Amino acid sequence: MNKAREYDRNYAAMYHKKYPTAKRAHAKVQSAKERGDLPWLGRCPPAKCVDCGDEAIHYDHRDYLKPLDVVPVCGGCNKKRGPGLNGGVA
Ligand SMILES: [Zn+2]
Repeated sequence: MNKAREYDRNYAAMYHKKYPTAKRAHAKVQSAKERGDLPWLGRCPPAKCVDCGDEAIHYDHRDYLKPLDVVPVCGGCNKKRGPGLNGGVA
């Protein structure tokens, strides 16, 4: 495993411990993609970031209690937006 990947994994584990609702919301987005209810990002045709129009690579939650209420965003805008509401509700 390379260092960047290891870092990503540790970051996700820490993040999910701190934000259990966010973890559940991310899992719901994942299964919605698997069911075909949400388009996969990073495939053709590329989805556009709702903030800047760049290629979207993430679904952003503004409220983790609404797990499927998401918008596609690019990496930069996802960082700028920060975590959504209610991420820490157990
Ligand atoms: Zn963007």
